[in-house]
Amino acid sequence: MKSRRAFIKLSALASSSLLLPLKSRSESSPTPIKPNEKNKGPVVVSTWNHGIQANAEAWKTLKSKGSSLDAVEKGVRVIESDPENMSVGLGGRPDRDGKVTLDACIMDHNNRCGAVAFLQEIENPISVARRVMDETPHVMLVGKGAQQFALEQGFEKKNLLTEKARTEWKEWLKESEYRPIINVENHDTIGMLAMDGDGNISGSCTTSGMAYKLQGRVGDSPIIGAGLFVDNEVGGCCATGVGEAIIRVAGSSIVVEMMRNGMHPQDACDEAVRRIMAKHNDLENLQCGFLALDKQGRVGASSVYAGFEYAIRTENKEELVPAEYRLEWE
Ligand code: ASP
Repeated sequence: MKSRRAFIKLSALASSSLLLPLKSRSESSPTPIKPNEKNKGPVVVSTWNHGIQANAEAWKTLKSKGSSLDAVEKGVRVIESDPENMSVGLGGRPDRDGKVTLDACIMDHNNRCGAVAFLQEIENPISVARRVMDETPHVMLVGKGAQQFALEQGFEKKNLLTEKARTEWKEWLKESEYRPIINVENHDTIGMLAMDGDGNISGSCTTSGMAYKLQGRVGDSPIIGAGLFVDNEVGGCCATGVGEAIIRVAGSSIVVEMMRNGMHPQDACDEAVRRIMAKHNDLENLQCGFLALDKQGRVGASSVYAGFEYAIRTENKEELVPAEYRLEWE
């Protein structure tokens, strides 16, 4: 499975004639809508190549005329429950104290939303987030309270730290002097957006966050407006990458807002990436990507580095698509 390790470092990219920086915003015109670009009928997109598997699960719901909300919950659950995936749910890399702490959120076509953060020992945080949305007057529960709620709702406690993740963490402890860093390799998320046969859009986002983070650190992924935002009049967006940078620009919500103002999802994602890059001097470790879907079924994806890709599934296609990437802006 291709991971963040597959990201090519900025220096390597800069010296490659194959991977030239794309035009700056001021030079580029709005992306034209290609004639057959609309994805009619149900469509689901999700981040990274694990999205293929997640989309396949979501597709079962969409195909049988289920809701986009059910589809995005069921889709990402598959990845949460995969012990081989070290950035989400079971098998996720722990914080620097060896605790696996999970963040997730979900949002439907009526702007209903639910989230959990710093949740431990529960395999499927996305479903706990859904219960927060469906069963409580709140939007977000964290830590012990989130776990208590999950247990009351019938979720089971489980050790999420796999042997592989524990061994890697022990190795990290030896080298790191117990110092958390923003690194380019040890994190990921699955974010998913789906439009069902009724044209309703929902989204989900789930992660174990930045590996070896400080105890209690929460990234963008459970934060509505940062890791995920949906407005059914317009479309939805989800994010992956360094959560701190994504939160600072309210990433997913600005992408949706730009689409509301007429931008193509691609241009909106590009602009969000540009805004993040404009606020950071050290781009070496800045991996942020956005994936957006609008009401016409058009999709856009953009990231700071090459390597970000998303999976799309419609009636006619099932594929992995490389995102646009931005290396330099004026
Ligand atoms: N966005 C996640 C976080 O910051 C990690 C990632 O997507 O790589 O927790």
